[in-house]
Amino acid sequence: MLECKVHGALDLRVQQVEAPSPGPGEVLVRLGAVGICGSDMHYFFHGRVGNFMIREPLTPGHEASGVVQAVGAEVTRVRPGQRIAINPSRACGACPACREGRENLCSNMRFLGSASVFPHVQGMFRELFLMPEAQCVPVADTVPLDELAMSEPLSVALHSVQRAGNLLGRRVLITGSGTIGCMMVLAARLAGASHITVTDVVDHPLEVAREVGADLALRTDLLPAGSRLAEACGGEPDVAFEVSGAGSALVACLDTVRRGGIIVQVGTLPAEGLHLLANQIMARELDLRGSFRFSNVFDLAVRSIATRRVDVRPVLSGQYPLTEAAAALQRARDKTVSMKVQLVPG
Ligand SMILES: [Zn+2]
Ligand SMILES: [Zn+2]
Repeated sequence: MLECKVHGALDLRVQQVEAPSPGPGEVLVRLGAVGICGSDMHYFFHGRVGNFMIREPLTPGHEASGVVQAVGAEVTRVRPGQRIAINPSRACGACPACREGRENLCSNMRFLGSASVFPHVQGMFRELFLMPEAQCVPVADTVPLDELAMSEPLSVALHSVQRAGNLLGRRVLITGSGTIGCMMVLAARLAGASHITVTDVVDHPLEVAREVGADLALRTDLLPAGSRLAEACGGEPDVAFEVSGAGSALVACLDTVRRGGIIVQVGTLPAEGLHLLANQIMARELDLRGSFRFSNVFDLAVRSIATRRVDVRPVLSGQYPLTEAAAALQRARDKTVSMKVQLVPG
């Protein structure tokens, strides 16, 4: 079977390896589709994501669907032939964060396709892989595998919505219109938001934001000098989600939400930090909250996609075979044409 390994910056090798066989409690999965995410691109282009350095060859990939090929002893939740979504997070279940129900903050988290621990947790840029049964969520045979592979990014958005609290009837601002920004549009609408504005500095992702249901999609770099973003939004938002990872966008969120508003930081900001007028948080009683990966919303994401209550199709922008993974990563980086690029077995 084929397997992709990143050995270092711009050094990706596709190799033939022995197919594994499932032990007790394990499921052998044949890849359906696996999405290319920002972190996968960082490992490929830079050999690292923030502080997580590649210290041994790493198979990236944490956004996958598949078909059960075989099951080990004691597996009861899935059977061969079934389509499944893979939950890439494996929390320890024992640390204080886990015991409190905040598994995404687990201090012993093993997240697929990540160099955060050593040995690294190998991901799903491969034809076949083993998965503990608990991380497999089965769906009907009619659910398209490409859509199903969006369960992880949708989970990230659903978790952010939970962090914001009640969105019913709220005006929402989302800064950053990439895949997660568009998933945020879908998640905020699902939660009852009444008006959603999305901002970016590139046209293509904003077109997709409109397709998934944004009321307004704005190029912030084209707003007239001195104009207020709140005015362009048609009124001050109650809640802002910062998804772009640009410091200037977080500043804009703080400036734009109403007094007593909520800002949720979803994107990864520059590691060196940034300058904020922090007194705004005090004087306007703003709530600035973080949102990291996701906790208990993965099954909800899978159900929402499986029933098309959430339609992720506008965000899908092409598939490449595993053998062309490097070309796919290059393509995924070009935001003027690509949203979610996926890899498929062959
Ligand atoms: Zn991802
Ligand atoms: Zn834990």
